[in-house]
Amino acid sequence: MATDNVLEIKNLHTYFYTDGGVIKAVDGVDVELRRGATLGIVGESGSGKSVTSLSVMGLLAGTKGKIADGEILLDGDDIVKLTKEQQRKLRGSKISMIFQEPMTSLNPVMKIGDQVAECVLQHEKISKKEALKKAEDMLRKTGVPRVEHMMKEYPFQLSGGQRQRVMIAMALVCKPEILIADEPTTALDVTIQAQILDLMNQLKKETGTSILFITHDLGVVAEVCDDVAVMYCGRVVERGDVKTIFANPSHPYTKGLLGSIPRLGDAGKELKSIPGNVPNPKYMPKSCKFAPRCPYASEKCREEEPGFFQIEEGHISRCWLCESGQLKTDHVEKAGD
Ligand code: SF4
Repeated sequence: MATDNVLEIKNLHTYFYTDGGVIKAVDGVDVELRRGATLGIVGESGSGKSVTSLSVMGLLAGTKGKIADGEILLDGDDIVKLTKEQQRKLRGSKISMIFQEPMTSLNPVMKIGDQVAECVLQHEKISKKEALKKAEDMLRKTGVPRVEHMMKEYPFQLSGGQRQRVMIAMALVCKPEILIADEPTTALDVTIQAQILDLMNQLKKETGTSILFITHDLGVVAEVCDDVAVMYCGRVVERGDVKTIFANPSHPYTKGLLGSIPRLGDAGKELKSIPGNVPNPKYMPKSCKFAPRCPYASEKCREEEPGFFQIEEGHISRCWLCESGQLKTDHVEKAGD
């Protein structure tokens, strides 16, 4: 069933079952990715953003992680219920992923052209020659130089930015509906980072692919995303469209992240940071997860977790300070439950 949302993650719980106990890496996440749009999922390490993307990709096998509850609807169909083989077929054809460090995802002993063509051959019944042609066309779209030459080169012969362009070509060559980009520019220097973000924006417009963009950097979100979900300790704490969230952030954690973005004109000033660290998952507060670091924490915050309150149309925040807004969910846990 076609909807405006190509992807809907509903009440997702992904837990890791370790010898030291259960770690609730993703603990009740709801987000939607609009067709043709880019949704940024932002948060510090340990927020659950990458585990959310691995859950969507069906890449938890081999880890101690498991989807304990929830739905991941792709075009209305729940992909959590698919078999491993069905999920494997989805990867590359309907959902693709690019990672932070392309060197770990590229085969070091396979020529670039063959690697991109291999992605095509896994999903389409065409000849090797036709697949190589598709690979060459896609590489050209990503703006890599000397494409015919590069097709015959190995990953170690390319720069970091070129390798990331190759990864983007591999991810998009089968025209997936969704591209998941997990910190794709973090390992690159700032100029190359800007080029790769421009390329992703341009290819999104050309192909209509929807993008789930995972990052710790709200500055990058401003460059590429239409909507944003801010995650903290396995929960979404604020959601809305990017312009609204930047103009009117309401959750203290979002405000902290925004305050830590370096700005022009701030030269010489000390960068602000959010005090403290993400809590150890074993000792997660049952109340507001951000309370130990929040400058506005009250007694109520330390006793009871807030649900979502609506700030304005399409903008919700999980914070007691927004209690005057309309309550959108009554999902709360009392300390000691
Ligand atoms: Fe801070 Fe309280 Fe809001 Fe949590 S609920 S973010 S502790 S003000």
